[in-house]
Amino acid sequence: MNQQTYADYMRDHFGFTGEGQLTDFLSREGGELMLGGRLNLSELARSRGAPLEVVYTPQISTQIARMRHWARGARRRAEYAGRFLYAYATKANFAAEAVQTALQAGAHYETSAAADVVIAHGLFRQGLLPHDRLIFCNGSKEAGYLEAIRNLRHAGCANVIPVLDDLDELEALLDNPAALQFGVRERAAGNRDGTHPGNDRFGLTAEEIERAAARIAGSRHQLVLYHAMIGSQVEDEAHFLATLRESVENYARLRRVTPTLRYFNFGGGMPTSGYRLGFSFDYEGFLTRLMVTIRDTCAAHGVPMPDLIGEFGRYTVATHSVVLLEVGAVKRGQPGAPDWYLVNGSMMVTLPDSLLVDGQEFVILPLSDWERPARPVRLGGRRTCDSDDVYPRPDRAPLMLPDTGAGLVLAIFGVGAYQQMISGRGGAHHCLSPEPARVIVTEREGRLVSRYVPQQDQATITRLLGYQPHLTSLAEPAPATVAARPPRVAPLVMRPAGNQRRRGYPRQPRISRVVAAGD
Ligand SMILES: *Cc1c(COP(=O)(O)O)cnc(C)c1O
Repeated sequence: MNQQTYADYMRDHFGFTGEGQLTDFLSREGGELMLGGRLNLSELARSRGAPLEVVYTPQISTQIARMRHWARGARRRAEYAGRFLYAYATKANFAAEAVQTALQAGAHYETSAAADVVIAHGLFRQGLLPHDRLIFCNGSKEAGYLEAIRNLRHAGCANVIPVLDDLDELEALLDNPAALQFGVRERAAGNRDGTHPGNDRFGLTAEEIERAAARIAGSRHQLVLYHAMIGSQVEDEAHFLATLRESVENYARLRRVTPTLRYFNFGGGMPTSGYRLGFSFDYEGFLTRLMVTIRDTCAAHGVPMPDLIGEFGRYTVATHSVVLLEVGAVKRGQPGAPDWYLVNGSMMVTLPDSLLVDGQEFVILPLSDWERPARPVRLGGRRTCDSDDVYPRPDRAPLMLPDTGAGLVLAIFGVGAYQQMISGRGGAHHCLSPEPARVIVTEREGRLVSRYVPQQDQATITRLLGYQPHLTSLAEPAPATVAARPPRVAPLVMRPAGNQRRRGYPRQPRISRVVAAGD
């Protein structure tokens, strides 16, 4: 019997011939995996080695441009009179390059905490967050959060919109000298179907919304926004729409008595293709049907159609970053169980949601050897010593990968949203697993430009934990030397600096020159 190759496996399971578009962010050309059609990941793995975190910000711009394009189509098809506003939910990834790319692509801004508003304030001061952008402040607001909102308003930002999560927040802000625009968050939307316990802690009851509207009507402020968020990564379109329908109804009823109301905000939930091959979602169809629902509901109530807002977290950033890990050893599985591919990283640190979110998966592909036989394996993170540092979870089917074993480089996709924020950045991680080197690729005047940040060095980590660096400097001399150099800016490498392929770690990161793809 012929053994199935990895390419056969991909063809049989995902209908993928091995060349061309594989997902909406990933393609394969000449046997090389390409991110966003332009960044050659196979080449990066050859030139930089693994582990490596690849950040590709043009993907963020693409995501936003596509959604706005679909919204234009939806508005035409639904004959929708309101505008569509795209906001980036920054808690998905606070990295400056992610936030600034989203802003450059025209996104509005959604905050979840005091620090988030402070960042927005800085960007507002620098002109990077233009005056015409709306800033939606969600979540439960402690004194510091309320203070940050007041400060931003005081600085001249009239478009900061606190979305009330509690009536106390309203009382705390009513005496603000400058007029504020308020939003209310509908509590019922959070767990309407009973499957999202925890989500119903946000927002106001119908009766509280009425009271808030009355309080605001008698003040110098305005109630402008109705917020209803049903969940995250909502892949079932019919469910998404059915759950929002009642919120739209509530919006229209409130609009009848609140003429200043003009935004309907469905929050997050827009799904991303980053977690599962074979994912599909009819984004334009969803927006069209939502707009038709709002249009008809508003007509029935005799009120104008609102501007429609979405706050896109995962959708914006999940696919813009990739982690490359290398298999360093193969360990025989227990009798009857697949072998372990032991990789030079940590799944717990890189993919914390694989442990935190029930059923959370990520797309993992080999960068080479698609013509080799496929075999079932499980991944074990070698940089921790933890039985939970495995992927997939033990109750899931093993991964199919080429039988190459040591030296095979794997690309883990979908890690650009939440993973790094949950793990933290720049700190001491589980088993002191160092953060991999990072290549940040951005676009400047049509060209791709890359910046290289070396692997986190041991001395930094031990110092953070209170050790004296000279006593712990025995470890990993090579990365420590490298880290002493400042990060360098170099044009994107599309060619390996040398011919031989290096294995193992620690590695000496190499910087080299050459040109961007697509030039
Ligand atoms: C987290 C969050 C979002 C983003 O959710 P995604 O599903 O990641 O798009 C949007 N709005 C609010 C209020 C949130 O808390």
